[in-house]
Amino acid sequence: MNPGLDEYAAGVLDGSRAWIARAITLVESTRTDHRELAQKLLVELTPHAGDARRVGVTGVPGVGKSTFIDALGTRLTGNGHRVAVLAVDPSSTRTGGSILGDKTRMQRLAADPDAFIRPSPTAGTLGGVAKATREAMVVMEAAGYDVVLVETVGVGQSETAVAEMVDTFLFLTLARTGDQLQGIKKGVLELADVIAVNKADGEHKLEAKRAARELSGALRLLRGDARGREVPVLTCSALEGSGLDEVWRRIAAHHDRLRGSGELDARRRRQQVGWTWAMVRERLLADLGADPSVRELAPELESAVADGTLTPALAAERILAAFARRR
Ligand code: GDP
Repeated sequence: MNPGLDEYAAGVLDGSRAWIARAITLVESTRTDHRELAQKLLVELTPHAGDARRVGVTGVPGVGKSTFIDALGTRLTGNGHRVAVLAVDPSSTRTGGSILGDKTRMQRLAADPDAFIRPSPTAGTLGGVAKATREAMVVMEAAGYDVVLVETVGVGQSETAVAEMVDTFLFLTLARTGDQLQGIKKGVLELADVIAVNKADGEHKLEAKRAARELSGALRLLRGDARGREVPVLTCSALEGSGLDEVWRRIAAHHDRLRGSGELDARRRRQQVGWTWAMVRERLLADLGADPSVRELAPELESAVADGTLTPALAAERILAAFARRR
């Protein structure tokens, strides 16, 4: 027989790894009966969640995210924390294989009894993946994990999706100076609360420090306000472990500042409401795309618009009207 709500809830609250894994599988499931049970479980667990520091970690592939999370996570568990690692990797939905949050890339943490690594869900849209990760976060927090690290790669909208589910956003980058700074996406700099130039070791140490100074200057120009000065640009070496304590200190300081000013609570409330509408939009679009009359109409309207015999506005109205008629 399938386990019931009480078993799931008790197992998770007990901190049982097996039950945590099962509960996350449940929230990731798209089966209708699973979805219902999952939502009931989340209602049960939510009062026990919310105390964790939620930290997003982003950066291009190869910057050292998994090395960094492995090293930082191990330090944190050594200091008595319990660390959950989740991931949002929209590319895994296409390839079917998850790259992020992969245990083989975080070997020390994977073997750590005080850490739990869950790879990105591999089915669905970015919205679906983000939903599953947010809900997995509730499970992890209810199970007593007090640090949640959400890894993502700088692809498409995944950074924005992660920024909307965490309290503090860490951007890992490599030593880039002068023109290379242009290559860093502006959007990421605007989302970042803490920035660290990784691989500051060996002969690259000085270069990394110089890059951090330049980036800090560029950030002040970009943000052009007091906030720009608040974003620390540090250097670290995930490989050697140097600078990691300082990175964590700044993350924790950012979190404490949010909490102290009441902004943490306000931000999380805003996030909840934002997620609600994001799910409404996602569902509506999916329903629209699957609607038979819309599908039937679309090719004809698309070619009329492409040929210039119909305006985009009129075509849009006809699509929406066809969709509305069937509701
Ligand atoms: P990810 O793709 O961002 O997760 O990057 P990885 O953590 O897989 O690291 C990519 C490569 O960079 C690996 O070969 C790591 O050993 C190396 N690496 C990661 N961090 C550092 C660092 O701080 N210093 C140096 N020298 N190499 C690093």
